[in-house]
Amino acid sequence: MKLHEHQSKTLFAANGIPIPRGRVAGGARQARSIARDLGARVVVKAQVLVGGRGKAGGVKIGANAREAGKHAVEILALRIAGLAVRKVLVEEAAEIRSEIYLGITNDRTARRPVMMASAAGGVDIEQVAAQTPEEILRENIDPFLGIRGFQARNLASGIDLPRAHWQQFIHIALGLYQTFVETDATLAEINPLVVTEEEQLLAVDGKIVLDDNALVRHPDLAELRDVDTEAGDEAEAREHGLSYVALDGYIGCMVNGAGLAMGTMDIIKHFGGEPANFLDIGGGASAEKVAAALRIILRDRRVRALLINIFGGITRCDEVARGVLAAMDEVGGKVPMVVRLAGTNEEEGRRLLAESDLITASSLAEAAQKAIAAAA
Ligand code: GDP
Ligand code: MN
Repeated sequence: MKLHEHQSKTLFAANGIPIPRGRVAGGARQARSIARDLGARVVVKAQVLVGGRGKAGGVKIGANAREAGKHAVEILALRIAGLAVRKVLVEEAAEIRSEIYLGITNDRTARRPVMMASAAGGVDIEQVAAQTPEEILRENIDPFLGIRGFQARNLASGIDLPRAHWQQFIHIALGLYQTFVETDATLAEINPLVVTEEEQLLAVDGKIVLDDNALVRHPDLAELRDVDTEAGDEAEAREHGLSYVALDGYIGCMVNGAGLAMGTMDIIKHFGGEPANFLDIGGGASAEKVAAALRIILRDRRVRALLINIFGGITRCDEVARGVLAAMDEVGGKVPMVVRLAGTNEEEGRRLLAESDLITASSLAEAAQKAIAAAA
């Protein structure tokens, strides 16, 4: 789960990282009033959950409250990477001397977090990583010791930061590590961390990605989720306890278990088809959950055939069959459906489905081939 810039910065500030003064506005009038309160040159920034807002026209500097209002109107009318801008952050604009990158994420190969810094801040860090990886300095952090002062100093010296800023840089690096650990984040990033004309370090942008699996430990952070900006179907799926990811293909998939769902997608591709989605109905799926899953999959107009692959364990095949039948009544079965049931109560499941016009298959390979044929 991604946090907005203003949410990330608030968490940074709680760990002593300096951020610009400012507030969030939902309209031009509010943006003007915040700018007036700040009484300074301001920057108006789109709050959408994607990077590259600057290039997309979502970051604009205004000299006064009137200009801030004008920028807010323009930015709130934008769509950035397909996302509508519903809020803007209005902050005191920084006088920037230089831009640094500072971020932390998990390094799977090293099996520990890695803090990264680069003097090539502000721009797309993925591009720096791909083209000039030597410009990114790295320090792996021992999770039992936490970040050590010398590691932050290594980063500061590695990016040729003037010594006068080291103390502040170390303080910020420690605060960023603290935020990353406390929130169970998978990424915490300041890009850019700027050196201002007043010789101060300031976090001008902020990004945090939280680990969804750890959200149970952070009810306060879970509440920050911006349901507005997520794809409607994915949000609805989550409400029903389903994991759903829409893809580009034309064969809908309903499977129990994430591994089996991925295996099913692979088999579809193996036989020359394209899966329309990833969907894991989870263990012990009820008829109601199955019905919700079918509704969500079939809403996608590109779906020309549906493949239901259930390996009954805790999830009982008869229960799934009942869900499929209930949902078919509701959504209407215009799309051909191929069902493969195996495991707990499969005979009962097959018996229930026998009266409907579903296509049955006894193996996954057979089911995938039949689904592809039905979609042709
Ligand atoms: P992003 O494009 O989504 O990463 O948004 P950022 O918040 O990083 O802003 C993009 C760029 O706008 C930064 O790299 C800065 O160069 C510039 N910018 C952002 N805030 C300010 C500010 O307060 N003052 C100045 N002068 N430039 C800013
Ligand atoms: Mn940025």
